[in-house]
Amino acid sequence: MYESVLQGALDLPLEQKKSLIECLKGAVLAQMASVREGEPAECPRCHHDHVVRKGRAKDGSQRWLCRGCGRTFGAGALGLLARSKLAPGVWASYVEHMVAGESLQRCADLCGVCLKTSWFMRMRVCEVMRNVLAPFRGGAGLSVQIDEKYLSESFCGNRDRARVKMPREAHANGNSVHRRGLSKLKACVVTLVNDLGDCACEVVGRGKPTRGEVERGIGGCDLGGSTVTTDSLASYVSPLRDAGVAAHNRYNASAGDGDGVGMVNALHERMSSFLSRFNGVSTRRLQRYMWWFCWTEQVRRSDASAAESLRAHVANGAYRVTRAMLTDEPQPFWEYWEGRLPEVTDDDLWGPEAMSILV
Ligand SMILES: [Zn+2]
Repeated sequence: MYESVLQGALDLPLEQKKSLIECLKGAVLAQMASVREGEPAECPRCHHDHVVRKGRAKDGSQRWLCRGCGRTFGAGALGLLARSKLAPGVWASYVEHMVAGESLQRCADLCGVCLKTSWFMRMRVCEVMRNVLAPFRGGAGLSVQIDEKYLSESFCGNRDRARVKMPREAHANGNSVHRRGLSKLKACVVTLVNDLGDCACEVVGRGKPTRGEVERGIGGCDLGGSTVTTDSLASYVSPLRDAGVAAHNRYNASAGDGDGVGMVNALHERMSSFLSRFNGVSTRRLQRYMWWFCWTEQVRRSDASAAESLRAHVANGAYRVTRAMLTDEPQPFWEYWEGRLPEVTDDDLWGPEAMSILV
């Protein structure tokens, strides 16, 4: 059974896939154990390991004092899954099925949770993945390629929010926008990759990115001293100069000299095949799937020490996005639709073939 689940998804060799799952499972369990056993292993803020009990909160739960930074904290600060009502085993099994590429429904069935919880667990595991992403490395002698990936805007998950009127008819699930050229209906993901295989994917806006959007896309990456190759888009010039790159090569795609961005093109292909597993990803949630994708990329080339660091990181990562915040998360880049909304009723827009509420 285990083998067949693993065989099912991702383009990884079996051994890699196994270690990948073990890695994430260990991270999740370590996180839960740190609370279930009663005592946190270290301070969630400064990671100092000398922590003592320090009274109780109003609700009677234990609080601790960190001897390192002198601040107190409760179980709520301990992180991601600490407050989950589900047993650690359920999370472990969920992670296993999720990473193996099972659908939300199948994960729900296999773990004995409902579909909505299954979706929520997926979002939360994506946050775990973000927390363990290694920083993007730059520096002298490193070559970095940056390009944009355009993905069709998807409104999945917005339908039940009465205050948001859908601006256009639903596409059939997963169908792309049939329009030639680069449209404002596409979400733009700024993608970076370097010689070492590090990657970063940031959802920044719709259509071609502006200078500010490029800045946001590369903001989390240290590019100082690197040699950077991009397409000829002008928005890259000043953000890269400000980032202190050693050289900025711009290639002209229409002139056919696109070889300079082979690494990032290959990454985009893997991203497409990663996303094709899902029945359309809502633009609202796209960044989370990008973390998942980056994490997959990271683990693809990881070794035992990466597994160790994953455990250590996740055990201390706190989540910021609550369930209610997830539900209320707005459709991004909405200003485009302001003033363009068609004059039709919701009934016109939403036939019986409803888009999936989830994903
Ligand atoms: Zn501390």
